Amino acid sequence: MTATLTAPLRIDRQAGAAVEFRSVVKDFSGHRALDGISLSLRPGELVAVLGPSGCGKTTALRGLAGLESVTGGSITIDGHDVVDVPTHRRDVGMVFQAYSLFPHLTVLQNVEFGLRMRRVGGAERLARSRAMLDLVGLADLGGRYAHQLSGGQQQRVALARALVTRPRVLLLDEPLSALDAKVRVHLRDEIRRIQRELSITTLFVTHDQEEALAVADRVAVMRAGSIEQIGTPEQLYREPASAFVADFVGTSNRVRAEVVDGRVRLPGCRELDAVGSPDDGAVWAWVRPEDVVFTDDPHGVAGVVESVSFRGAVSRTTVRTGPDARLAIDHRPEVGRPVGSSVLVSFVPSAVAVAPV
Ligand code: ATP
Repeated sequence: MTATLTAPLRIDRQAGAAVEFRSVVKDFSGHRALDGISLSLRPGELVAVLGPSGCGKTTALRGLAGLESVTGGSITIDGHDVVDVPTHRRDVGMVFQAYSLFPHLTVLQNVEFGLRMRRVGGAERLARSRAMLDLVGLADLGGRYAHQLSGGQQQRVALARALVTRPRVLLLDEPLSALDAKVRVHLRDEIRRIQRELSITTLFVTHDQEEALAVADRVAVMRAGSIEQIGTPEQLYREPASAFVADFVGTSNRVRAEVVDGRVRLPGCRELDAVGSPDDGAVWAWVRPEDVVFTDDPHGVAGVVESVSFRGAVSRTTVRTGPDARLAIDHRPEVGRPVGSSVLVSFVPSAVAVAPV
């Protein structure tokens, strides 16, 4: 552990900070919540931490915020080890799932709060707070109280309040999960716009894979206290490094297959490249619904259409291929087949993720 810093961290307002977790461990009375995670965020980058409930996402974020001490490893902000630096001197802004506005203060006073604590003068405080409310699209609501706002508006105020002090790192812990679906999508796009505009390094914790893929430069998928894979949304989707990631990110069909000489043999399909270098033998292969197609080729996998759901630009058909085997297929609505019809299907991915059976 490093000694507690006595001087404030250097504040360079021009860009977000570089953040690094190095082999960070966190134990809670015998339970290991973080098992040596390492993760770097480049200045201005938005990294989403994605994973199932209890995998350690919030603990990682709270470790960076200084709300939770870590048991081992280091966390640096622009090269400064901050593990012994108190939260208020880490130069981080935070937005949490629960609306956390002060109920007795107006929207404008809520946003001003951090500047008041830092003894920023009245005129500048007002100007910066109004500019921030403008940035989050609430310029006209400065005089309202929290109970007079929708959930989405409250989270915008929370974001303005977190950003008004110009922190170099923004921490978002499930900030959208209490909102209804439409507001959530709109606000996540707004957060991304503002984050880019301010070029603020951002750690975004979510259990919602669609949200993570939509907003992040890179996504870190966590499982049981470890990071399973870090990559761009496209890398995670197209080249999942493990069965867990393939299952967790996006919808996948799990299909019995065989690896021979490093190539994957799926039923009713030419040989495909494997993601990684699996050993020969029986495997599970993960195939995306958009990589399964109806075919006339008699070598295709035979099945019966069980259900069809219309989703706008694409439809999803479920085909039963065995007593306990089903395949999801995404396709343009006009090539769909009626429920109950017998069909042949084939697989067309460029490469598939596999795991031993
Ligand atoms: P969720 O999506 O449900 O919020 P998470 O991935 O954010 O989950 P964490 O909150 O980081 O998970 O918790 C990781 C593990 O550490 C869990 O098993 C949790 O029960 C445990 N844990 C978290 N905080 C404490 C605590 N203060 N004391 C003991 N165990 C804790």
